[in-house]
Amino acid sequence: MNRRILLKRLTVIAISPLIVACSRSQVVAGSNSQITVTPLNKGYETWRKFLSPEAYRVLFEDDTERPSTSALNYEDRKGVFICAACYLSLFESVHKYESGTGWPSFTQPIAGHIETKRDFKMIMPRTEYHCARCGGHQGHLFSDGPPPREERWCNNGVALRFVPDGESLPILRG
Ligand SMILES: [Zn+2]
Repeated sequence: MNRRILLKRLTVIAISPLIVACSRSQVVAGSNSQITVTPLNKGYETWRKFLSPEAYRVLFEDDTERPSTSALNYEDRKGVFICAACYLSLFESVHKYESGTGWPSFTQPIAGHIETKRDFKMIMPRTEYHCARCGGHQGHLFSDGPPPREERWCNNGVALRFVPDGESLPILRG
């Protein structure tokens, strides 16, 4: 093997992981392209007065609530789950399922109301998602959910509020 071929092969090997990483992030970018909500772009401090310290830490400091601590794990009525900060509707109860993880889990969000980004806080990159309106962190998206979408939107219960069918949605705030 001459030097030029060897170099070419080494380049292909070096680039391969990047190709895999990029093709994954394109999937994420695809779901972002359908955002239908105008972002508020307000400073996170704006929300502190509306929220409990625990909810603020999760929504605006990217904290994670302890598993099995949210009453929303057991919420099985029909209705809508809204952002606890700005009240934007994020998930419909028809897409909630019991994942066994201890966090409220959904198979899909309301289209255009959730934005995603890559999160490198753990060793493996993860897909973080947040309210497209106020930017409040909601949870992480995994690919081990039920068919056909096989998505698991793993949400902090404290970052959501539930509005049962028959009750009107609160006016958006912020
Ligand atoms: Zn929000």
